[in-house]
Formats: sequence, C-alpha cells, structure tokens
Amino acid sequence: LSQLFRPLDLLGMVYRTIRQGVIDMGAMFDLIDTPSEVVDVANAPSLTVPNGHVRFENVRFGYDPGMPILKGIDLDIPAGKTLAVVGPSGAGKSTLARLLYRFYDLTGGRITVDGQDIAQVTQASLRSAIGIVPQDTVLFNDTIGYNIAYGREGAGRSEVEKAARGAAIAAFIERQPQGYDTRVGERGLKLSGGEKQRVAIARTLLKNPPVLILDEATSALDSRTEGEILDTLQAIERGRTTIVIAHRLSTVVHADEIVVLEAGQVVERGSHAALLRKDGLYAEMWNRQAQERAEEAVAAE
Ligand code: ATP
Repeated sequence: LSQLFRPLDLLGMVYRTIRQGVIDMGAMFDLIDTPSEVVDVANAPSLTVPNGHVRFENVRFGYDPGMPILKGIDLDIPAGKTLAVVGPSGAGKSTLARLLYRFYDLTGGRITVDGQDIAQVTQASLRSAIGIVPQDTVLFNDTIGYNIAYGREGAGRSEVEKAARGAAIAAFIERQPQGYDTRVGERGLKLSGGEKQRVAIARTLLKNPPVLILDEATSALDSRTEGEILDTLQAIERGRTTIVIAHRLSTVVHADEIVVLEAGQVVERGSHAALLRKDGLYAEMWNRQAQERAEEAVAAE
C-alpha cells in the first residue's frame, strides 16, 4: 500500500511547493530542468526564523562530480543586512542563491539560517522563509491583481493594493481602464522589464519573507527606470537579510558587504569604499562600468 501512496505524496509535495511560490523562480532556476534530488530528512522539523542570520560555512558544490563550481565559500550575513555578490560571468553567483534555496545539496560545508542547517529542515519551511526577485519574472495569463496576489495565498484586494504601492506600480495599474482586473500576458497588457520586476517586488512584499534574494536583471535599463527600481528595492531590503546578485555595480554601493567571486572563490570582500581603495578586481570592474556609463551618456547626447 505504501508503494501506492508514495507517488501521491510526491505529487502533493510538488503541488504544495508550486503553491508556495517556487514557480516565481522558473526563469531564474529553470525549474523544469532541475533534477529533484533533494529530499527532506526523516521527521525534519520546520525552519524557524526569529532573526534571519544567514551563514555559508566552507560551502563546496559542483553540478557534476569532479567539476567543482564553488570551492569553499564562507559568507556571514547578519540579520537584516545586505550582502552583494559580484564577479565575472560563470563565477558561481547564481549557484550561491540556488544553494540557499536548496535546489541542490552541497558536496561540503553547510548553510545555516539562524543556526539551523538548511539540509536538516523541511524544504517547504525553508522556501517559505525566502523571497526571490528573479532576473525575469514569469507572469501568468491572468489579471495583474492575480499576478500580485500570487505572492501569498488568500491575500485580499486591499493587501494587493498596498503591495503594489510599495512596489511603485500602483499608479501604473490604476491608469489601466480595468485597473487590477486588467489582463496581462500573451493576449493582454504587455509589461516592460521594469514593470514586471515591480510585479515581482509586489509579490515579495505580500509574501513578507525574512530572507530575500535579488537576482538583478542583466539587461540594461534606462537610468531613470534603474533609479526608480533601486529606490523600490531598497525599500524591500529594509529589515530583511538580503543577498543581491549584482551585474551593475551601481546597485551595490549601499550594500553592507560586497564579495567578489571569481571561479568559485571569494577573491575580495569589503565595503564599496574599501574595495575601491584596494585597487583590485572590484576597482577594475567599477572603473570599466563607469567608463561604459560615461560613453553611453556621450552617445545619448
Ligand atoms: P552570470 O553572471 O553569467 O549569471 P554566475 O556567476 O551567476 O554567472 P552560475 O550561473 O552560478 O554563474 O554558474 C557557475 C558555473 O556553473 C558556470 O560555469 C555554469 O556553466 C555552471 N552551471 C550553471 N548551472 C549549471 C547546471 N544546471 N548544470 C551544470 N553546470 C551549470
């Protein structure tokens, strides 16, 4: 009989996981392709997050055995602080986020949230404590109100509107003839990258998680949109432990700590000012991006 129930259990788990917001991250984590090799330990307790202190202790990981991607990463993000992760493409930045969400188990070391090893608690409780604003938000072919309410099951209209205001998208929605009932997606209203990101931010405000992962979009935003989004992001980071995976360094200046990842190792860490003084890889990346911004400004004139 238990053999009969196991698949049903699994189905229930998949359903619950999707309901809890994993699908938000389809774009970031390519859920469909992710092998479900992670299982809860027997009688795993739920994660409890009184503060939100996140630690990576000597974390080692490779997607393929014998091909290490992260080679002993130590990170310490005190409750409510912001850590920015920067570094060249392929350095392993997004992999860090996937591991915190426990899409994969580590090959060495451990990750803890408020002292609890994330491999020892239920995945459902871990994932309900973490909010993700992905690079590219997946919207459903439904109303914009539904797309925001998806952040938390049972959210009412007034909570949805409050979240939309917090994400600076309420005015845009109210301008639409059908307001929150406006359909989005293939046959509805097309949203820009910045607007979609704000929908993701509104969802996250509704979910109200103590730990936040922001995977910054790689695509260039115009500087006004970028400025508006920066303000909104700073509003949701307040009071939450935040990991920002950053491509544009202008967005990490305010972080409490910046780590520079290269080929799976932390090569530099410190504040923006300290890293500039160091004149290493971060300073080189900063100067290069500053030059690109200056060239764009000239080209725009
Ligand atoms: P980017 O700035 O381009 O987003 P990143 O620093 O976030 O890069 P990761 O996405 O973490 O880099 O990838 C780190 C390494 O792991 C890369 O060499 C990548 O090819 C490899 N990798 C990523 N995902 C997988 C996967 N699902 N299977 C196998 N290898 C992978």
